[in-house]
Amino acid sequence: MNFASRTKNLTTEGAYQVLAKAHALEAKGRDIIHLEIGQPDFETFPNVSQAGIQAIQDGYTRYTPPIGMKELRQVISLDAGKRRGMDFHPDQVVVSPGAKPNLFFPTLALVEEGDEVIYPNPGFPSYDAMIRVAGGKPVPVPLLENNQFSFDLDVFDQVISNRTKLIILNSPGNPTGGIIPMDDLSHIAEAAQKNDSWVLSDEIYARIIYEGFQADSIATYPGMPERTVIMDGFSKTYSMTGWRLGYGIMPKELANKVSLLLTHSVGSTAQFTQIAGIEALSGSQDQVDLVVSEYQKRRDLIVSGLNDLPGITCQKPQGAFYVFPNIKEIGKTSQEAADWILEKAGVALLPGSAFGKFGEGYLRLSYANSRENIQKALDSLGVLLN
Ligand code: PLP
Repeated sequence: MNFASRTKNLTTEGAYQVLAKAHALEAKGRDIIHLEIGQPDFETFPNVSQAGIQAIQDGYTRYTPPIGMKELRQVISLDAGKRRGMDFHPDQVVVSPGAKPNLFFPTLALVEEGDEVIYPNPGFPSYDAMIRVAGGKPVPVPLLENNQFSFDLDVFDQVISNRTKLIILNSPGNPTGGIIPMDDLSHIAEAAQKNDSWVLSDEIYARIIYEGFQADSIATYPGMPERTVIMDGFSKTYSMTGWRLGYGIMPKELANKVSLLLTHSVGSTAQFTQIAGIEALSGSQDQVDLVVSEYQKRRDLIVSGLNDLPGITCQKPQGAFYVFPNIKEIGKTSQEAADWILEKAGVALLPGSAFGKFGEGYLRLSYANSRENIQKALDSLGVLLN
């Protein structure tokens, strides 16, 4: 069949491929520990679920304005502003079904055919996909293990030019858990202004950061609010992946364009989901803190366990719920290692190469799983590697 060329290089996310292989083994009776999927293992917090259920019972099951309900946009502008020490107007907020549309539609609104887009590699696979669909030229910049998995700024300086329409940042990052330090953010902010580039700052893990660390937003730098899109959402912070609720904060003119793209694609975000989102932001945040402190314990367990294994070294991530251990000494490619570990140790994880070519030599393990299961996975890996 002849498909439009914009779909030519689209592939699925690595996590879905590994999940399918893991399910095939489970169907044969094998026990598999799932460390491949980037989704919290906690239930949606009860007050939030209850708000959604109540909203359905009260008949909030209608269309809303494509850009999102006024009340929710108000709450988001206040909460996101307070957390970043900034002032946002509700008119800058675009609500979407999941955070992903607020990556995709600002990119569609900004990037012309042939425009260059800088993005992190290893990075979230949707960046490369959406740049291609928008007709842009993907320009990957490696993340450096020895610099908290922040950009290789030498490469960044070589590739940025007045052809760079957009720079995508993700801090704390998937798949590495790294946070981009302040100095690097200010370097990138200056380069963006000099080259008249926009920045799309994916801050979906901004609330999942560990003791002693802080994730700053590039939007706080002078001159940046007018050229930055902050993308954030509810999936990770409030364990709401299936509710589909996210948002973007951007200059009002761009928000209006993105709203038009929403109007003619998804229409609007579910009304009861938006009402649950209001409760998530306005209700008690204690559960978020509890969950983050549990993630921190899991992080410490998995990092020390991996570092005890021969051929593996693992940095301690500052945020998100992923580790990205270096396995270059094992003598297998990332893909071979991931297949081998799944087959022999019954642990499903992702090859670093699923996040781009600079992820080769690494694996990604999600520790959004119980400490008990993480320990079991470490024990199985110990038997395989020792
Ligand atoms: N950005 C990053 C870095 C992610 O890891 C994810 C989800 O895995 C998203 C965006 C998308 O979030 P949502 O599920 O709310 O669309």
